[in-house]
Amino acid sequence: MRRKLAAIALLLPVLAWAGGPVASSMNAWRSRSVADPHGLIAQLRDQLDTAGPGLAPTRERSVLWGMGTAAINANDDAALAEATLRLHSLGNADHDPVALAAAGYLRARHDIANGIGEGLTLALQAAARVQEVTDPQIVAWSRFQLCDAYALDEQAKKALPLCRQSLASYTALADRWGIADAENDLGIVLATLNRVRDAAAMYQRSRRDFATIGADELVVMVGDNLSPMYLKMGRAREALALSKASLAQELADGRISDSLGSSTDIARAEAALGHPHKAYAMIQQAVARARAAGMDGELSDVLRVASGMAERIGLLKVALGDVREVLKLNAKTSTPALRAIEAELEQHYATREKELRIHDLERENRINSLALKAAHADAARRIAEQRRADLLGRVSVLAVAGLLLLASLLFLLLRNQRRYAEELRLQALRDPLTGVENRRAFMQRANLLLSEPRNAQRVPHVLMLIDFDHFKRINDSAGHQAGDRVLAMVAEFLQAGMGKQAHLARIGGEEFAVLCPGCDAEAGMRLAETLRAGVATLSLPATLPGARVTVSIGVAVFDGHHCHDLSSWMRATDEALYSAKAHGRDRVVASALVS
Ligand code: GH3
Ligand code: MG
Ligand code: MG
Repeated sequence: MRRKLAAIALLLPVLAWAGGPVASSMNAWRSRSVADPHGLIAQLRDQLDTAGPGLAPTRERSVLWGMGTAAINANDDAALAEATLRLHSLGNADHDPVALAAAGYLRARHDIANGIGEGLTLALQAAARVQEVTDPQIVAWSRFQLCDAYALDEQAKKALPLCRQSLASYTALADRWGIADAENDLGIVLATLNRVRDAAAMYQRSRRDFATIGADELVVMVGDNLSPMYLKMGRAREALALSKASLAQELADGRISDSLGSSTDIARAEAALGHPHKAYAMIQQAVARARAAGMDGELSDVLRVASGMAERIGLLKVALGDVREVLKLNAKTSTPALRAIEAELEQHYATREKELRIHDLERENRINSLALKAAHADAARRIAEQRRADLLGRVSVLAVAGLLLLASLLFLLLRNQRRYAEELRLQALRDPLTGVENRRAFMQRANLLLSEPRNAQRVPHVLMLIDFDHFKRINDSAGHQAGDRVLAMVAEFLQAGMGKQAHLARIGGEEFAVLCPGCDAEAGMRLAETLRAGVATLSLPATLPGARVTVSIGVAVFDGHHCHDLSSWMRATDEALYSAKAHGRDRVVASALVS
């Protein structure tokens, strides 16, 4: 961009050849120098051939100058050499310093652009040739060429005053093409000095001036210079729009080399707008274009940018591949400058590869550590589950054991309670002194005997009441306790003597009852007599020497007629006992009701 625009002002002397009234056709010609340099070269060469030796020297100078500028824009070294050689011979033949200066400026420009020889010296020599020329158009032109040479050589500080002078000269001439052209060059110089805002302002002026003269293609081209300024100023959207317009124009014109710069600017703007993937896609397109066009020098530059963008979206291997390709491209030619770049890239490559390895290792470590963490977590979870299961098992065992214990305790408690209840029941029915059944037990048994239907078949039953004779005397003579022992002894004897067919009960102080179910009067009398006789012969304890114990016994038979219930039966028995007492005691009396 910079190279081409700067060359446009070289066309100024053409004015002398084209004549005043054809300014608009001249403008079209200037535009073609940039947009269609190959076509322009062919057309001018054709004019030179057609006119032959009859062409006026100033006119030939203008045509050769135009051809030279177009040759620079087209990178056509042959056309450039042709133009400069012919300008040189024309200058020598006609003693025309302008033609010689034009040849010098063209060569200077070519050499500076390609880093060959002493291009700036050639430009200074060219300027010296026209020092005596007073034509203001030539003066302005020469100043502009010098400004452009210094700017191209990146000597911005020296270029700045020259470009300002050039702008002032064009302004004085009211040459709007020159003004716009000089403004653009001033912008370039200011940008090199990193005066971003000043550069942007100058480019904006240039664009406006090119727009005024209808050089729309140049408006877009200066926009290409303005775009990086906007990007630096944080106006990425405007930068993007300018570079996109520029790219479209470059692609339409088939200017691949320029399109690579615009694609790079677009990619940078996209990256600045936070679209790293779009940026990478755009730079990839540029890489493909450079590769297809076989532009190794540009490819190297674009690949470097692509490498950074690939890295930004995490495509480290791709980034590394790009850097490697840059190295290979640079290895084709070996100049000191390239070797330095190569060394730098090698260093970069080594660092990147190291970074990549570290990154891979870190990622591997991260994965390993994640796997380790997962394994730890898994193990911890299993241990926790195992513990829970163990705990549950223990709790279950404890619960079962507890339940068993509880059941056992309850069982024991119930059993004890039953035993206790049984004991209480027995105690309630038993006489504590003698151990035989008490009055309550006797009453239950007697009632049961009489109330159960099956016992009705077993009648008669016999009831005896036994009362100790003169028991008071035993108590009185030997004491109450001795009396108790006598009671216990006699009870034991009675119990043993009656066997299992009869039931003995103590129903009062020294009164016992004997119940003989299913026993007739005869058997009852016999048993009573046996018991009475046994007691009478019973030997008493030594504490009662000489004492004798006898009992009186009343007997009654329950036959269901005379004695029809317990009350009548007991009354009859009691009456018999009373009778025994009355008749002298120590005897058995049957109830008068006995049949
Ligand atoms: P009887 O021949 O007329 O029956 O003369 P008895 O002295 O036996 O007179 P009774 O039957 O009327 O009196 C009973 C006596 O037995 C009164 C009391 O002192 C005595 N006795 C009653 N229960 C007990 C007892 O549990 N232990 C002792 N040691 N004596 C008792
Ligand atoms: Mg009594
Ligand atoms: Mg008595």
